[in-house]
Amino acid sequence: MSKKMVFSFKEGDGRNKHLLGGKGANLCEMTQIGLNVPPGFVISTEACLAYLDSDSDELPAGLMDEVREQMKAVEEATGKGFGDPENPLLVSVRSGSAMSMPGMMDTILNLGLNDRTLQGEIRQTGDERFGYDSYRRFIQLFGKVALGIDDELFDEEFNKVKESAHVTEDVGLSADDLKEISQRFLKVVEQATGKPFPEDPYEQLEIAVKAVFRSWMGKRAVDYRREFNITPDMANGTAVNVCTMVFGNRGNDSATGVAFTRNPATGENKLYGEYLVNAQGEDVVAGIRTPKPIDRLADEMPRMAREIEELRQKLEAHYHEVQDFEFTIERGTLYCLQTRNGKMNATAMVRTSVEMEREGLIDRRQALLRIKPEDLEQMLYPRLDPNARVTPLAQGLPASPGAASGHVVFDADRAEAEGRKGRDVILLREETKPEDIHGFFASRGILTSRGGKTSHAAVVARGMGKPCVAGAEGIHVDVMLREALVGDTVIREGDLITIDGTSGKVYLGRVPTVEADFSAELNILLGWADEAARLTVMANADTAVDADRALKYGARGIGLCRTERMFNAVERLPVVIEMIMAETAEHRRQALDKLLPMQRQDFQELFEVMAPHPVTIRLLDPPIHEFLPSEEQLRDDLQYLYRLKESVRGMEVLAGTMSLLGEAGSLPEQPVDSHQVEEAIIKKETMLKKVRALYETNPMLGHRGVRLGITFPEIYEMQIRAVLEAAMACDRKGLEVHPKIKVPQVCTAQELLFVKGIVDRVSAELEAELGHRLCFQFGTMIEVVRACMRADSLAEEAAFFSFGTNDLTQATFSFSREDAENKFLPLYNERGILQNNPFDVLDEKGVGKLMQLAVRWGREKRPDLLVGICGEHGGHPASIHFCHRIGLDYVSCSAPRIPVARLAAAHAALCEDC
Ligand code: ADP
Ligand code: MG
Ligand code: MG
Repeated sequence: MSKKMVFSFKEGDGRNKHLLGGKGANLCEMTQIGLNVPPGFVISTEACLAYLDSDSDELPAGLMDEVREQMKAVEEATGKGFGDPENPLLVSVRSGSAMSMPGMMDTILNLGLNDRTLQGEIRQTGDERFGYDSYRRFIQLFGKVALGIDDELFDEEFNKVKESAHVTEDVGLSADDLKEISQRFLKVVEQATGKPFPEDPYEQLEIAVKAVFRSWMGKRAVDYRREFNITPDMANGTAVNVCTMVFGNRGNDSATGVAFTRNPATGENKLYGEYLVNAQGEDVVAGIRTPKPIDRLADEMPRMAREIEELRQKLEAHYHEVQDFEFTIERGTLYCLQTRNGKMNATAMVRTSVEMEREGLIDRRQALLRIKPEDLEQMLYPRLDPNARVTPLAQGLPASPGAASGHVVFDADRAEAEGRKGRDVILLREETKPEDIHGFFASRGILTSRGGKTSHAAVVARGMGKPCVAGAEGIHVDVMLREALVGDTVIREGDLITIDGTSGKVYLGRVPTVEADFSAELNILLGWADEAARLTVMANADTAVDADRALKYGARGIGLCRTERMFNAVERLPVVIEMIMAETAEHRRQALDKLLPMQRQDFQELFEVMAPHPVTIRLLDPPIHEFLPSEEQLRDDLQYLYRLKESVRGMEVLAGTMSLLGEAGSLPEQPVDSHQVEEAIIKKETMLKKVRALYETNPMLGHRGVRLGITFPEIYEMQIRAVLEAAMACDRKGLEVHPKIKVPQVCTAQELLFVKGIVDRVSAELEAELGHRLCFQFGTMIEVVRACMRADSLAEEAAFFSFGTNDLTQATFSFSREDAENKFLPLYNERGILQNNPFDVLDEKGVGKLMQLAVRWGREKRPDLLVGICGEHGGHPASIHFCHRIGLDYVSCSAPRIPVARLAAAHAALCEDC
């Protein structure tokens, strides 16, 4: 016997969405728990695949026999006959795969109608208008969906009749008008297909089933699956649902609607939805008439309102999940036509999780697992008001999430000046550079017309948690004219714009935004997450302000503080430059002496905010040329200065000449003298020389990290001193602090030993002064392949390891991130040579393997070795699962990812065995 392909709603397995599709499985399930579903049956996805696999256009052998048998059962249940002219049974034919998927076939309603059954339907209902209205809908839908006839051909005829009847609304059409329309529609079909409209209901059904099956391979559906990575093991083939028609358009005691068991925007525990009186399902969707809010049903049909409330309770009690359902009321009887898990925004997911747990509908584990960690991120940024109706002016890359409005400024200085006045500004530049950093602080958001998701603007904005749209190539910035062009639109300095870093869209004017809310429910939920998780979540934070925010989001410490961010602040950059320009160790020390109190102050603030949680400070990492202007910039500046020098000289000559002539008084006063210009030129020329001297072919593999610390030990010493003195100051105040000093770019224990020597010397000195030991730890970044290989010997010197997976990924692949992402990675992904971008999704097989080895070897030497990750990956759920599996102690990520990471850490622990 061949495999069963058709299942009645009474027998299908509601859990088998793969076989029956989501819609079909739930129709079966609802039928079996006693909800009022019109009788029907499901044709399996296996039948679909068999049809698509065969070379002929025939349905699999035996399928139509099974269908006829099932139809008989439906006829018995309804007391009607499929094709019976006296008492016709009409059905809907609906597609539905395991994953809900737009782009597949539309539903055909009223199948089974023909010239004769129509008359029976009219006699039965005594309503001719209803009969012809159903008929013309069926012919059009069947023609369009099953026979592939252009919709416009039908619309044309429809409008002709509407015009000659002088009506504007469909509901104004009379029975005769609708009859006329039906007749014209039949002709349209005949002309388009060269055959009369199929009269035989079983022929109609067979054509419809084939059309549904074929729609699985339709372009829209295929594109959708590709776009959203829907693989065959998630959904393979579509089922066909054949369901007895019920009519919401049988008069004022009939209606149709859709509802959520709870509000999908807020999570409120209250029925939410819309309905239309005297209408069929598709009217609600098509927006032909404006539906009424479901609250109104209590006045219009009180008994029905009570039944729907009951239905709502039953659905939730059974599914333990918020449901999104369709219903139809036919002459006072309520039918449920579909249900599925409700799609909600993050706010609603969180609220319903907490409330359903309290109601006893779900347990904590379910409350945590039903929310996708990454969805939480949207709760933490201001968003565009979803009700705002606006069209974007330009599109860029969504580089740092959140929305912001402000007045456009074209450079960082202006941003700072305006920001000081308390104005909201958006910094708009072609691209940004390290020296623009003060403009970032002063701006609400950053917009660039060039650069990608890893451009300077994107990285810095993300670090600061400010919205950023990068690479909006449609915008042409002219800093000289202080305006930007987008097509014909001119944006002048001071104009208001809104950017949405979550979507990458740019709008003119101020678009209303809604503030982020870290709700009481989110706190409760994340509290449960922390209880379930084994990994600790820490923050990447560089300033006390960042730290404060991270704490609010639940960070249990700082896993990465990048000291170079502090170097970039406006009042410090000149001192940093002085330090870099120093030609002798003595000079360098003088500049460092000025930096020391600043850094100490920074650290002390950080420690105080975070106490008693640990704060991990990374010693200076980037190549120092990054703090200087570029060679190009300097050369440009010099050109101007040389010209200025000539002009000034000319002015001086002129002045001399005039005074000889006794006319000195009539000269304009000169703003600069040639000495000043000369001095500026010398400064810039020296700087240019320095920049050239510091030039490296591969700066990221060059003189940076601990390599700098070894060539310029006084820099590291200053930083170490600042950390330990800050700790000492806190200690004196009676605060419990746990600083951790970590060394970047280490490849051998010898480097660590060198830096440790400084640490030991400075700490001994301070401890002598203090009279007791300071509480701190010394450890290393693991971001070089050799560091993984030498993990055992590094662990002898380091109390902790902190994986920097951005560098480690570059090093493992030998890819430079920027070049890879701009040149070949997209193609690699497209061709399937690499499945993901390893800089976004941690490469478990390669980079992960190295991490695993490093953890094992490190702990063999030092069993209590603390291990964490502080790269961007530390905030990504899949990577967090991996970190959990290989036994890391903590993950560290930027503040807005912290809630995501807390939930992901809980998922990792809860899913250990699933
Ligand atoms: P979609 O997946 O687009 O929602 P459906 O198959 O659920 O497609 O159907 C589209 C519309 O037709 C819905 O409003 C649905 O309630 C309605 N509908 C489907 N089957 C029937 C039926 N047997 N009787 C009445 N209305 C139906
Ligand atoms: Mg539906
Ligand atoms: Mg690094």
